[in-house]
Order: sequence, then C-alpha cells, then structure tokens
Amino acid sequence: MAIENTVKEFKEYLGRINMYNEAMATLSFDGETVAPPGSVEARAKRSGFFGLEIFNMITSDKMSNFLEELEPHIDTFDDILKGEYRIAKKEYDDNTKIPAEIVKEMRELGEESAAIWAQARGEDDFGKFAPYLKRLIELQKKIIEYRSNGENPYDILLADYETGMNMEVYDVFFNKLKESVVPLLKKIKESNKKIDKSFVNAHVDLESQKAITKLIAETLGFNLERGHIAESTHPFCGGSSKYDVRFTTRYLEDDFLSSFYSVMHESGHAIYEQNVADDIAHTVLGTGASMGLHESQSRFYENYLGRSGAFWEVMHEDLLKLLPEELQTITAHQFYEAMNEVKPSLIRVESDELTYNLHIIIRYEIERMIFTEDVDVNDLPNIWNQKYEEYLGITPPTNALGVLQDIHWSWAAFGYFPTYALGSAYSAQIAAHMKKDLDVEALIRAQDFEAIKGWLTEKIHQYGKTYTPNQLMKKSFGEEFNVDYYVDYLTEKYSKLYDLA
Ligand code: ZN
Repeated sequence: MAIENTVKEFKEYLGRINMYNEAMATLSFDGETVAPPGSVEARAKRSGFFGLEIFNMITSDKMSNFLEELEPHIDTFDDILKGEYRIAKKEYDDNTKIPAEIVKEMRELGEESAAIWAQARGEDDFGKFAPYLKRLIELQKKIIEYRSNGENPYDILLADYETGMNMEVYDVFFNKLKESVVPLLKKIKESNKKIDKSFVNAHVDLESQKAITKLIAETLGFNLERGHIAESTHPFCGGSSKYDVRFTTRYLEDDFLSSFYSVMHESGHAIYEQNVADDIAHTVLGTGASMGLHESQSRFYENYLGRSGAFWEVMHEDLLKLLPEELQTITAHQFYEAMNEVKPSLIRVESDELTYNLHIIIRYEIERMIFTEDVDVNDLPNIWNQKYEEYLGITPPTNALGVLQDIHWSWAAFGYFPTYALGSAYSAQIAAHMKKDLDVEALIRAQDFEAIKGWLTEKIHQYGKTYTPNQLMKKSFGEEFNVDYYVDYLTEKYSKLYDLA
C-alpha cells in the first residue's frame, strides 16, 4: 500500500481513539462535579468499558502494523505526524510490554492502598500503611523490569511524568535550588520584617466570590464561550478539547483567597488548553506538551502574575468593589505582602511559593533513596522528619502531618512530585524570555493580558504536544531547561520583599 494511504488510515484510527478519549474526559468531569453519588457503580462500569475499548485500540495488531509500516518513513513526516507517531508508539510500547495480570494486580493494589492510606492518615498510624507501601514499591520495581533496557528504575519513572527528565537533570536542579532556598529561608526567618495577613480570613459571601472568579478568569483571557467553571472539593482543569475546556474551584467563606488563587492557577491550565492550534485540536496532540510545561502555565498565572505587586495594584480597585466593608482600607501593597509571606509549614499544599520547593525536594530525595538504595520503608518517617528539620527548620509532631500527608505514593505515583517544582522553574525561564520581547510589567499595569496570552500562545500553547518539552524549549527559546532563571527569580523577589541585603 502506498505510504500516503497508510498515513490517512493511521490518522483516522487515531481520530477514533481520540473521540473515545474526549467522551471519557467529559464523563470524568461530570463524575467529579455534578454526578449523583448513587451513580458511582454505573459510572465505573461505563468508564471501564470505554477504557478497555481505548486500551484494545492502542495495543491492537492494527496499531502494531501501522507503526511498523510508518517507521521507515519518519524522516519524511511533517512535525504533526511525527508527534502523533511518537505518542502512539510510546503508548503501544508502554502498554504491551507489561503482562496484563500484573497491570491488574497493580490496579487492585493501588485501589486498596489508597483506602488504607486514608485510614492510616486518619488514625496517624504509619504502621498500617507501611506493608502496603512496601508492596507498592516492590511491584513497581517488578513492572519497571519489563520496560527497562538497563536504565535505573527511578529514571524510567521520572521520564513517565516528564519526557526527557532523569536523575542527572533533577539532581542539578534540586541541588542548586536547595543551595539557594535553604540559606534564603534562614535569612528571612532572621529578618525583622513582620507581615500581617489576618485580614485574609474576613468573611466573603459566596456570591461575591463567584463574581471574583468570573472577573479574574475573564480578565486573564479564559474564553467562556468555549469554557465552563464549576465547583469541586479539589480544584482541577479538564474538558474534552480546545472547544470545551472546564475547570473547577472551591469556595471557603472565611478564606476567599483560596478560591482566588485556585482560579488563577486553573485559568493558566485552561488558557493553555484553549489555545492549541485548530489543526491539532481533535488529535492526541491537542493538549499540553507535558505535565511540567502544563504546570509552568498555571504557575505563571498564579505566581508570576497573581503574586506580583503590579497585578495587585491594577486589580485592587475592581476587587475592592466585590469585597466586604472591613477590607476596604487594605491597600494593594498589603495584599501583595500578605500573598507572599514566607512561613515554613508542615503541609505541602498549604506552603508558600518559596518553601513549596523544599517540600518537593524532600519527596524527590526520599523517592531517589527508595529506588537506588533499597531503604527500609519503616525508616521513612524518621528520614522524612530529619529532612523537614534540616531544610525547613520544623519537625512534624505526627506522621499524619508528615510522611502520610500525600496520597501520591498510595497510587504508586513515584516520580510525579518533581514535575510540580519543574513547572515553577519552567515558568521563570519562560517569563525571562517574555521580558526580552514584552514590557510585561507595563502590560499588567495596562490590564493587557491579551498580549501576554498571545505571546504564550505563539511560543507554547499553539504547539500542544507536537514536540517533547526539550524540543519545544529549544524551538521557542533556543535553550533547554535551565534552573538558573528560577533561582534568580526567587532570590530577587524575596530579598526585596524581606529587605535583605
Ligand atoms: Zn496545576
């Protein structure tokens, strides 16, 4: 068969898989937001059915034949077809190398472990979770063996969550970050600066908070013609394609900034999804390049814009109109300082922009030990607590507030955490390049967020997943990932805020 015909059939086949994926995405958003509790079983059955259909298609003989026929012609493909081939090949390989019964075993162990983890955390009983964690690690190591060509197991896991990443790159990243953040934090603690943020717990009614959500999302450039905002316990961004992007937030009446920053964050994800190019919209490429780059966009909007002085100055007046009487005397600068207070906390998800990184570094270092040094699971609480004392200067009084706080390990999601810190570091690198082309601060002051979105679309969003993270960074910025931008950004921002010499 002529190669053109194979390409045409291959694209049609991928298009069918994508239709299933779009339907699944809509069903999953429905499940997280409005589906009634009594529908759990029926929905599980339905997603099980579609999930199996998708699995069968991506691992079929037909797919295998496509990949084999196309392989000798890769060099002649355009970038979109190269991207589609790259992703289909990876999905085929990842899903056919591991025996089905082991995949099933992991799924069942993961479900059971997540339930046990929730109990163990509730009862502050690490001993209850420990045997499950041990089994999860052992099974994960076994699974990696099927996929390995001699690489280190942790490198394979890191690359699962961020193509191109491995311990070599992350070691450099996290060591540089640690060397700058730990001493910076010490200086901040020793400084005399006190930031009063008690006003952030003022009561703000739901209706006002919803109006703030709409104001922020629209100001930033989230298109509500092709987008929807709902509520859920844990805010997230979903939707099926660029024509239907949805995100959620959660309203707390005595903490309006919780939703405010969720909306800033999820808007970043959502704007990325809405601005991929039309010609890849209904393909496997019609989403973010990687977890790290997706997170770079949410962090850019949440932190780089949302926690900047210029942003608060320009939004201050509009926000005050939606805030209660008691907040009317709070100045833009007071908001700005309160939003950036550095205060080491035991809990990752409650931490500030600066110390957040230390939480991630600790998880990375522990995971690295698990997969390279055969550390005893029972020693993890101690290792965890020692690192918190060393890097953050605080020791968790309980394991519930320590090693048991995150759900990720109960899903065997080892290698996931580093992408959170990577996103922030990417965003600083991207912002530095943006500043060469645009007067970002002047644009913020002019409330011209369209220009910022347009630049991000040109450099990042339009390409979706066409390129790997490294390819995209090189194409748009002429360099691969570089942590120095982030270290400089943090040092400059916090030295200024805390009047450090
Ligand atoms: Zn995010």
